[in-house]
Amino acid sequence: MANYCTKCGTKTMLMSGTIYLEPDAEPYESGKEEKSRTNIDEIDRHIIARFCENCDEIVNTFNE
Ligand SMILES: [Zn+2]
Repeated sequence: MANYCTKCGTKTMLMSGTIYLEPDAEPYESGKEEKSRTNIDEIDRHIIARFCENCDEIVNTFNE
């Protein structure tokens, strides 16, 4: 796991939190109800990410 940004070499910050996955409510075709392939209504994930302040973006994420 790199502690430094792969783009600019700045030391990254560690960030973590729980994210909740929701099916995309927007159907591919208008007026058509779409079902998600998997039942992901109740899935949440705890993720850890490394954030580069210099690039202002997340460099790397991984599941705990
Ligand atoms: Zn960077």
